[in-house]
Amino acid sequence: MNVPLLDLKPQLARLRPQILEAVTRVIDSTGYILGREVTAFEEKIANYCGTAYGVGVSSGTDALLAALMSLDIGPGDLVLTTPYTFFATMGTVLRTGALPVFVDVEADSLNIDPQAIAEALEADRKTGSRIKAIIPVHLYGQCADMQRIMALSQEYGVPVIEDAAQAIGAEFPFEQEGRIVWKRAGSMGLCGCFSFFPSKNLGGIGDGGMISTSDHGFTEILKSNRNHGAEPKYYHSRVGGNFRLDPIQAAVLAIKLDYLEAWHAARRQNAAHYRQLFLDAGLIDAPVILPRAMYAEVEGAEGHNHHIYNQFVILVPQRDELRQFLQSQSVGCEIYYPLCLHQQECLQSETYRRQSFPVSQNAAATSLALPIYPELSHEQLAHVVAMIQRFYQRT
Ligand SMILES: *Cc1c(COP(=O)(O)O)cnc(C)c1O
Repeated sequence: MNVPLLDLKPQLARLRPQILEAVTRVIDSTGYILGREVTAFEEKIANYCGTAYGVGVSSGTDALLAALMSLDIGPGDLVLTTPYTFFATMGTVLRTGALPVFVDVEADSLNIDPQAIAEALEADRKTGSRIKAIIPVHLYGQCADMQRIMALSQEYGVPVIEDAAQAIGAEFPFEQEGRIVWKRAGSMGLCGCFSFFPSKNLGGIGDGGMISTSDHGFTEILKSNRNHGAEPKYYHSRVGGNFRLDPIQAAVLAIKLDYLEAWHAARRQNAAHYRQLFLDAGLIDAPVILPRAMYAEVEGAEGHNHHIYNQFVILVPQRDELRQFLQSQSVGCEIYYPLCLHQQECLQSETYRRQSFPVSQNAAATSLALPIYPELSHEQLAHVVAMIQRFYQRT
């Protein structure tokens, strides 16, 4: 049995006529830069996320870069983030001339640790308050502890840019006066950055991204920055870039957004099914670790984070051998991420290389993402777990 890590063909087969119609409509309109399609999709995303505005951009990476540039972050500044994320989270910080400050993640969610954020902000306050932004990453599709992070943001006056590239539609339960208020990824910080890379839960037919925010002034700066800082045309009070969202992508994504909740639900069901299969196979806790918070919701825990399972990740011993074995059995799997950011060669600084973030480094050494896309059959999920069981019986 073949179980690819991701197969976009079933989704395409279902939506193909609508997608072709939308693409044709844009082509025939001859309006190829921004315009109605982009504006309509921006409103749709803002509405979905629970923010006042959306600013369509060319990728998730450019969403982060435009957000940092719009906060005037640059040389001499520091940005606090996690070392266990996709490279773009740090790459964009470095491109502004600022430097990242890393703090470790929590073992049960692999999301940035609010206690460690508090300590870093306190230390920074004593040494000149150079930290100009915090970028929590909602890793694998589950929000970081945004209630505590936003409290720290207010206490220290440091804005939060949510890297929500993997987490569109994920929700965090805020406790407000004894009540739970669910807030969506991208609506809690100053802004949220989304990616429509094809493998994300909402994926385009190419690159695309979005920044969500409810701050009117910040929206104006973002819109200016995505278009070379031109205001009016050919007059540049700031240096932006070309970060514009393609209207073809906007038109296709607007169609797909209507299906997103159903796709999230199917991914959640797959996660619950995996968990049951691992339990039945006697693999849970040893050798297969399902980090607790990442599966609390499918275990039925009350009031827990709504996870959208962009990735379904297990922690395992002999991870590299297991990966090879699964691939030899036509079971797709991938490592997100094999190396922490502070260990990346491009940083070229002893200060970073001497640092140690044990939880992140353990995750980098043991994490493995399994197929989780909505159209997987129960037989395919069972096959994945059976192959993992076979591997650990052999070794
Ligand atoms: C995908 C991703 C990005 C970058 O998005 P692109 O659209 O590929 O540029 C940034 N951060 C995280 C956490 C991501 O997963």
